[in-house]
Amino acid sequence: MIQTPKGTYDVLPADAARREVVEAHARKVLGAAGYERIETPAFEVTDLFLRGVGEATDIVQKEMYTFDDGAGRSLTLRPEGTAPVCRAYIQHGMHKRPQPVKLWYLGSFFRAEAPQRGRYRQFSQVGAEVVGSSAPATDAELIVLLGQLLDVLGARETRLALSSLGTPETRAEYRDELAAYLHVHADRLSPEVRSRIDLNPLRAFDATDPGTRETMRDAPKLLERLAAEDAEHFAEVRALLDDAGVRYHLDPTLVRGLDYYTRTVFEFSSAALGAQSGVGGGGRYDRLIEQLDGPATPACGWAAGVERILLSAAELPVAPRLVDLFVALAKPAGVRTAFALTGQARRAGLQAQLELAGRSLRGQLKHADRIGARYVAIVADGSVAPVSLKDMESGEQRETDAENVIPTILRASRLA
Ligand code: AMP
Repeated sequence: MIQTPKGTYDVLPADAARREVVEAHARKVLGAAGYERIETPAFEVTDLFLRGVGEATDIVQKEMYTFDDGAGRSLTLRPEGTAPVCRAYIQHGMHKRPQPVKLWYLGSFFRAEAPQRGRYRQFSQVGAEVVGSSAPATDAELIVLLGQLLDVLGARETRLALSSLGTPETRAEYRDELAAYLHVHADRLSPEVRSRIDLNPLRAFDATDPGTRETMRDAPKLLERLAAEDAEHFAEVRALLDDAGVRYHLDPTLVRGLDYYTRTVFEFSSAALGAQSGVGGGGRYDRLIEQLDGPATPACGWAAGVERILLSAAELPVAPRLVDLFVALAKPAGVRTAFALTGQARRAGLQAQLELAGRSLRGQLKHADRIGARYVAIVADGSVAPVSLKDMESGEQRETDAENVIPTILRASRLA
């Protein structure tokens, strides 16, 4: 039996309904703030991600689905949405539009990761990007909107971690300082942390052994090394979040996986999830557009995983599907009349379904009941096409002509 490839899943109808709720709320929350929908291709020229995500990142090193298109071009299934949106911004000269350009997207992304609960090889992200503004209010607005979206969707036990990364130059200097500090205290570190001092000194903040943890308490922090204007920007973002009543904790170890972040970074996690607790996050990426050969343009954005939102939200109120009319077939059946009646009912704005399975009349009525149909029209063969219209709520049934069915239901709906 052929099954879904490892790390992928089918969205069955019940799940599709919940995913539509996520999309509807995203459209509402982001649309109300003036964000416009953008869609970019599922695959891009590989170079976009090499330059836009960073050659040294886990994504580029290990997780990309890259293939040759048969004509010597290297393409990659998109692992993230920010670089493609920036590519589109540059390609379509969006810097000539009134700034900033506020965009949102929802679509599939692909990463060759080891699958587990909440981690898939094809997953969906909803994301928002504001390109062309360096205002701290932009960072704060984006954070508020993601928080609002998670709230209306009922994501449970969420926590917001916030930090600032300053500039890549500050970061490089800080890294050296931290590595030097770790070398001085090497004898108190775990062997694993010690062996990675020069490779990735920041990882030492994640260590759990007492010796390393104690050493890290007094280690220099990046937030204390920010350049004056970066520190000022961060203070302003925090003041705006405080005013908006957004709760967050400062996490000096928040690094995020991508190279392109500058200044503000943030991440919402949910304690209701397992090991993969990140629900959504993002930050400012003031150098990315320039790095992709566009005009120097500040920008900020986030992406949230649709599957993780759904995993962390216990109940999503999915509207029950309504069926106004089920068109059943008597014996002998007036199939052509029944088919025409179903179509007319749909054009009149009713939710209508036609019997397609060859069930007995009893079976059809049972099925109509199961799908919650309000009326059943039983159509028999004959030149006058007599129809029996049954009100499923009252059980009342009466003979009528086919052309009376739709007006009767519409009248009843208006009265209801
Ligand atoms: P990132 O682009 O890595 O910051 O991811 C943003 C969000 O996308 C994460 O917080 C997750 O909710 C979601 N996400 C990332 N990778 C995966 C994955 N492999 N499977 C499911 N969701 C993911």
